[in-house]
Amino acid sequence: MTAKHLIIAIDGPAGAGKSTLAARLANRFGLLNLETGAMYRAFALAALEKRVPLDESVDLERLMTSTVIRLQPDAGGNRVLLDGRDVTERIRQQDVTEAASRVSVHPPIRRWMVAMQRKLGEAGGVVMEGRDIGTEVFPSADVKIFLDASPATRGERRHQQLGPSQETEQAAILRGIEERDARDRTRVQSPLRPASDAVVIDSTNLSMEEVVARAEALITARLAAR
Ligand code: C5P
Repeated sequence: MTAKHLIIAIDGPAGAGKSTLAARLANRFGLLNLETGAMYRAFALAALEKRVPLDESVDLERLMTSTVIRLQPDAGGNRVLLDGRDVTERIRQQDVTEAASRVSVHPPIRRWMVAMQRKLGEAGGVVMEGRDIGTEVFPSADVKIFLDASPATRGERRHQQLGPSQETEQAAILRGIEERDARDRTRVQSPLRPASDAVVIDSTNLSMEEVVARAEALITARLAAR
């Protein structure tokens, strides 16, 4: 087996470092890097713009049928198109982050996303990052990594990423992360949890270099086993 056919699943809570890890692995093994969270974010933006209530499953389902989301992987990450419009930067803003967490609990939305994501990844040669890749999207992925870290560490990393801000803002970031986590972990359809055959990496006390090295070793071992 060559890396060309591999499906690597990376799941875990917000702020654990999944995107950085996925980008590094994609680069190292020549894989496409697909950020599934960006698809939930793009749909959330559609709901915000069209003023569809985020907790109305039927209205969201109607919106879904007229919404087209495309992921375009490139060297620096993923470009995201919503109905043909590039929304890559817009979907990283706080209102969309919050809305994505809320629209992603609805089972019809999840089924739609999962079907799209399977299509994107089925040919292999991908590292796919999200919350339910190893459990739902690709239960037979070749390598499954569940990347975790303590809430305080994840809050701190997100804080660093966002740049200098006040102490109170750091507390707000942590609160936001914890709320989104709780929603991801308790939803009915495909809640956030490690697949039974996932390798859990707790990065609380690890550098990104150490996390990448562990993940690379898992992939190399998988390739050698073929
Ligand atoms: O990973 P990211 O923070 O961009 O994801 C945005 C939101 O989309 C998350 O808070 C999560 O609720 C949801 N999501 C999901 N399943 C995925 C990816 C993301 O429910 N596979």
